[in-house]
Amino acid sequence: MNKREFLKAGLFAAAATQIPVAVNAEVAKKKKKGPKNWVWTNPNMKDTDEELVNRFTAYKASGITGIFFEADSERHFRAAKAQGLEAHRWIWTFNRAELLTEHPEWYSVSRKGQSCVDNPPYVKYYRWLCPSRPEVQEYLEKTVTDILASDYVDGIHLDYVRYCDVILPVNLWDFYKLDETRELPEYDFCYCDTCKAKFKEAYGIDVDKLQYPDACLSWRLFRYNNITRVVNSVAAIAHKKKKQITAAVFPTPEVARRNVRQDWTNWNLDAVCPMIYHGFYKEGVSWIGDAVAEGVHFLAGKFPLYAGLYLSDFKNDAEIRTGIQNALSRGAAGISFFGNVSPTVLDILHGEMQSNKRA
Ligand SMILES: [Zn+2]
Repeated sequence: MNKREFLKAGLFAAAATQIPVAVNAEVAKKKKKGPKNWVWTNPNMKDTDEELVNRFTAYKASGITGIFFEADSERHFRAAKAQGLEAHRWIWTFNRAELLTEHPEWYSVSRKGQSCVDNPPYVKYYRWLCPSRPEVQEYLEKTVTDILASDYVDGIHLDYVRYCDVILPVNLWDFYKLDETRELPEYDFCYCDTCKAKFKEAYGIDVDKLQYPDACLSWRLFRYNNITRVVNSVAAIAHKKKKQITAAVFPTPEVARRNVRQDWTNWNLDAVCPMIYHGFYKEGVSWIGDAVAEGVHFLAGKFPLYAGLYLSDFKNDAEIRTGIQNALSRGAAGISFFGNVSPTVLDILHGEMQSNKRA
């Protein structure tokens, strides 16, 4: 609502009703705008200018409203914006390897006492920074500040904004030959000296003396709050610059806390894109709606939720359509696509946006 509308509302309303009038008008305005839809992509430097114009024109016409670019490419960002799309920079937040040599002490240590520097869990590229360290927070604040200094960047999109998976999605257990029905010490983080000291200071508990550290609720809460503190600190930076901040998170609030210590409903974001990748959890397409409903419930209107769909998980076009419908009907403010956004996928999205308008 602009100033003029607010004044008009005030003139015709009794003093006591001014605020509800303003809020209702704001909500109505947002609803009128309709769903927003996103694409996660890595800018390919081989794309020609003509290809970018064609791709982004097709995106816009089909109902895509913004792109999360996994790397900086001024040409890609500006090409997207020229077609009326928002262009956001997607970054890996805590999982980043560039400090391995310079600051090995900043990396997380497992309950087994192994550092991500020498023993990356599951895969070589898992190099998790410790969120308790003030130096790590400062490093990420500077990273975000530098990215948002570019005029062509509309916002920052956080990924890997969590701890290492203490429990992997069930579909991966066979692949890694693991039984993760309980929290295994080599995948449980972070037990570095900084974390132990800070936890002792705040809660008076020595983690090393706990018989069941994985069952200690304060130890869990401490870790949720470590991630939340860093997220809210970079969120304040984004908002000060009048830019948006969003995140790719685990599919539901419950799974996010249990598997990766990620408490995303308590973050100060502008939107969230839960990766509701049903295949990873051996779930059907109907679960997409269930996951959306859980997230929307716990967010309680704090910010919009865009359902992240993994296109390779769908068996056919009809399933993609159903997935989109399930997400929107259960409260998603739109969709975020990961994978091959083909002309067929764009056609399906376009169809759903048209029926959404008619509804
Ligand atoms: Zn630590």
